[in-house]
Amino acid sequence: MTRRKLVAGNWKMNGSHAALSELDAIAEAAAAHTSIDVAVAVPATLIAPAATRVPALSIGAEDVHAADHGAHTGCVSAAMVKEAGARFSIVGHSERRADQGERDADVKAKAEALHRHGLNAIVCVGETLDEREAGRAEAVVTAQIAGSLPDGAAAEWCAIAYEPVWAIGTGRTPTAADVAAMQGAIRAKLRAMIGEEADRLRILYGGSVTPDNARELLHVADVDGALVGGASLTAAKFVPIIAAAN
Ligand code: PEP
Repeated sequence: MTRRKLVAGNWKMNGSHAALSELDAIAEAAAAHTSIDVAVAVPATLIAPAATRVPALSIGAEDVHAADHGAHTGCVSAAMVKEAGARFSIVGHSERRADQGERDADVKAKAEALHRHGLNAIVCVGETLDEREAGRAEAVVTAQIAGSLPDGAAAEWCAIAYEPVWAIGTGRTPTAADVAAMQGAIRAKLRAMIGEEADRLRILYGGSVTPDNARELLHVADVDGALVGGASLTAAKFVPIIAAAN
């Protein structure tokens, strides 16, 4: 089955109004590569100005609360980011799982909240270095899929991002064979959970994707795109990654 590739950026806690000018060339590249979907998740403060500046580009959030509103100081809901112009959100990024103690059930509820509001979800999973070295990477990741996959997950609104924690921001990447093995394990787990829909869902790879390694990583079997952190902050690095997805 052919799936359209999705190249998504994640600005994390970086960026400013001045940095939004980077989105101009990214939006141009997105328009030029019509067979690739391109998206950029930005800090909550930048969603509205980014969506206004580049209306054709899919701008998203980096996290949402599972509830629609209420006494959750400092949080933003799916409805709020939608109103600001977001079309999607990342959920379950390993930095949130580690820093905010988010569990699989939280991630699932957040993804379901996004769907309730007509937004797309990128659900992140990935093992730590200790887990990989202990030979438990596939078990850990498939358990995360089991716990984090939203009810009714469908390719129209849900994608998975496999991001080995030890590869994020470190310059280290798994071998192409290791990525292929994990993507296959995730696909098999999805098939067991949602049947044929599993073959339509996109499974992205994330972790130290750069212009230099993007072509190889983006063309590993079962890799349907990339979630890109550091290299999404500038058009100079992100645009070649978009081009490499072709
Ligand atoms: C990420 O934050 O999702 C990520 C993959 O970061 P980086 O590309 O910087 O490793």
